[in-house]
Amino acid sequence: MNTVNETFRHQAIRPVISCHNIIKNYGTGVNEVRVLDSISFDIYSGEFVSIVGPSGSGKTTLMNILGALDSPSSGTYTLDGEVVSSLKDDDLAIIRNTKIGFVFQSFNLLPRATVERNVQLPLIYSSSLTTKERKGRVDAVVQAAGLSLEYLFNKSNQLSGGQMQRVAIARALVNDPSIILADEPTGNLDQSTGKIVINSFLKLNKEGRTVVLITHDLNVANNASRIIQIQDGKIISDEFNKKKPKRSLN
Ligand code: ADP
Ligand code: MG
Repeated sequence: MNTVNETFRHQAIRPVISCHNIIKNYGTGVNEVRVLDSISFDIYSGEFVSIVGPSGSGKTTLMNILGALDSPSSGTYTLDGEVVSSLKDDDLAIIRNTKIGFVFQSFNLLPRATVERNVQLPLIYSSSLTTKERKGRVDAVVQAAGLSLEYLFNKSNQLSGGQMQRVAIARALVNDPSIILADEPTGNLDQSTGKIVINSFLKLNKEGRTVVLITHDLNVANNASRIIQIQDGKIISDEFNKKKPKRSLN
């Protein structure tokens, strides 16, 4: 059998995301609950992977670890060759900000700030950019996310859900991250708007970005070329999606 990890290991490519025996417990003593139970997988540059499982299976907990927003109780998480637990807070913040673009179910925008302000927020660490360069980047990513520039000075709470998620995608792209981590990005959208959002992830992946799409919805997960299924904090399957072309290994 040709498993996902064997296929890539044969190509000797270094994974961008590597989880080795990740365990996450919440609570202590008799109240201790194991939410992630020995999770191991590698994700390689340019892959589009879905992590799918029912509500409460541990997806968001895993996403927080993948995004270096939280640390595992035990096990090793390696992001782009760096063991995350060995990094100091400042370095973690820089890595999060430059390597990863986050997209969340509830958009997480500043409601009373304009689209422009929301999108340029992650540029806070890019002090070397001139005002003109910032503006150029914001315009480019807003358009790349499929939103017209005419909304740039609207407050984000004046937009529809689909438009808000496009602002959030633009914000995720503004530092040109190589990895996109999205947690239930279509969860608050109707089906057709959700499709538009998924299409932008497919496009970003085609352009070479690694996309990790977390969802409870198998239909949404089926857009990825590899699907990792998780249940009760354990991986129950990890397979290439027969319906989608396998990632090019060139
Ligand atoms: P999913 O995103 O798949 O719905 P979560 O990762 O949010 O799952 O949650 C997995 C389990 O961990 C759930 O049972 C949830 O109640 C529990 N959990 C999540 N966060 C915490 C926390 N901070 N403290 C205690 N339990 C938590
Ligand atoms: Mg969740």
